[in-house]
Amino acid sequence: AENSTRIQFDSLSSNEAYARGVTAAFLARYDPTVPQLADLKTAVSEAVTNCIVHAYPERIGPVCMTIAVYPDREVHITITDKGIGIPNVEQAMQPLFTTGNPEERSGLGFAVMQSFMDRVKVTSKPGKGTKVLLVK
Ligand code: ATP
Ligand code: MG
Repeated sequence: AENSTRIQFDSLSSNEAYARGVTAAFLARYDPTVPQLADLKTAVSEAVTNCIVHAYPERIGPVCMTIAVYPDREVHITITDKGIGIPNVEQAMQPLFTTGNPEERSGLGFAVMQSFMDRVKVTSKPGKGTKVLLVK
């Protein structure tokens, strides 16, 4: 990559805006198009919210985010947690699938990420954690 950064923060809901802000601040110098930046912030918001809501049901845990810009201006963002993991990633990525409280969650986070990104890759190990790669 031409330039990259890495941050870690606690799985607190107030850090969702922090992650979005870091994404905007880091990428601003690369003249991202307005839609590219808006789409990346939307996807980051969904992935980070998932770490906050699902990854650590019984505690606050660490969330790591990396952002890398490539010479062709492609942006790769990873969001990684060390939480409970996802037993069936394919099922979890289906629109409307949720293990959350149906009053609060609609099961559309991964669908939103996929519709706004060029590529979304999820790798997860139950008990070990989850990594989401977003490419735009
Ligand atoms: P919404 O995003 O619409 O509020 P949701 O979070 O349930 O609802 P998705 O974001 O699509 O929907 O996630 C689907 C399911 O995948 C979640 O309900 C949860 O079971 C699982 N999941 C997603 N991210 C994680 C994660 N980081 N750790 C553990 N489980 C996760
Ligand atoms: Mg979600």
